[in-house]
Amino acid sequence: MSADAGVNTRLAHVGHDPFSYHGFVNPPVVHASTVLFPDCRTMETRAQKYTYGTRGTPTTDALCEALDELEGSAGTIVVPSGLAAISVPFLAFLSAGDHALIVDSVYAPCRLFCNTMLRRLGVEIEYCDPEIGGGIESLMRPNTRLVHTEAPGSNTMEMQDIRAISEAAHRHGCVVTMDNTWATPLYFRPLDFGADISIHATTKYPSGHSDIIMGSVSANAKYWPQLHDAAITMGICGSPDDSYQILRGLRTMGVRLEHHQKSALEIARWLESRDDVARVLHPALPSFPGHEIWKRDFKGASGVFSFVLKVDDAGRFSKKAHALLDTLALFGLGYSWGGYESLAVPVNLSDRTIRKAPLDGPVIRLQIGLEDVADLKKDLEAGFAAAAAI
Ligand SMILES: *Cc1c(COP(=O)(O)O)cnc(C)c1O
Repeated sequence: MSADAGVNTRLAHVGHDPFSYHGFVNPPVVHASTVLFPDCRTMETRAQKYTYGTRGTPTTDALCEALDELEGSAGTIVVPSGLAAISVPFLAFLSAGDHALIVDSVYAPCRLFCNTMLRRLGVEIEYCDPEIGGGIESLMRPNTRLVHTEAPGSNTMEMQDIRAISEAAHRHGCVVTMDNTWATPLYFRPLDFGADISIHATTKYPSGHSDIIMGSVSANAKYWPQLHDAAITMGICGSPDDSYQILRGLRTMGVRLEHHQKSALEIARWLESRDDVARVLHPALPSFPGHEIWKRDFKGASGVFSFVLKVDDAGRFSKKAHALLDTLALFGLGYSWGGYESLAVPVNLSDRTIRKAPLDGPVIRLQIGLEDVADLKKDLEAGFAAAAAI
């Protein structure tokens, strides 16, 4: 494959050399704990590629190699969930007495992990404004060791200047991690912008079908050995069946994302034109505060965004918001995203310490699936009518 091959070409060919396994275009699913060695010397020196099931198989390698190619990383580990793809690198790089800076609009379960286990282990956790950019330098302490970003932020979609944050963090010897689940490596490559670690809930777009829980962590050359050691030390590994399915999902991720992107933007623009919507939080809309950063750094937008409903009963349990959501038939009420089907969620921002819930109305997050836009609009239209009737 030539170095300048297009993204869909790369997705069709990354990760497995058919002639490494009899010409089959897909890798074998290798179920394994034990791997045999031909003799004692090979065993004692571990002088062969595979040594034990937790340390990789041809199936997990095929996926990790595909992700390395897409992320431009030196090495990738696969882990049993997207949340583990956050907790494992944090445990790899943080020690008691260290200070970590986390963007306030972070994926909520990451905050729970930080506030409970990491604090219990003696790590100082501080949340920062996601739009702080290079100003993060003022929060650096002698013991700051890790900066965690997620762009756009969960639910409220704040864009982050990853290059400016990384440069400031690196001046203080910090590792920069980024949760890149929303953009996927097709629309943003964190390592190209200075981040050291790119994290994915491959549960989302790489899976694409709402039936797999898996995560990946990709590191640059500097941090790969420490990340890899942590996964081995902790006994964290991805299953062969899930790895196979995620690699299968990657083949169509480019065409799926194009559809998610186009439909989501069409619906976002339509929502923005409505009188019963206060604001639409979508980085590709020129009205969105982080739009310039998105336009400068990202190659596209996926299918998840939020909007603020204009209501006279703002707050978490707005009756109008509930009426809207309860009326939806194509949009299911469910967590996660990245699958083929549309979803809606009433957003709970009560854990925020800096980027608090907007005061102008309840926030509703949408995942725009692969359905036809006209049908999705009709569904939302019925929801808005139900809200108006309250
Ligand atoms: C869903 C999600 C995760 C966690 O993924 P799971 O596989 O559900 O544990 C992590 N980060 C972001 C941004 C997510 O949306």
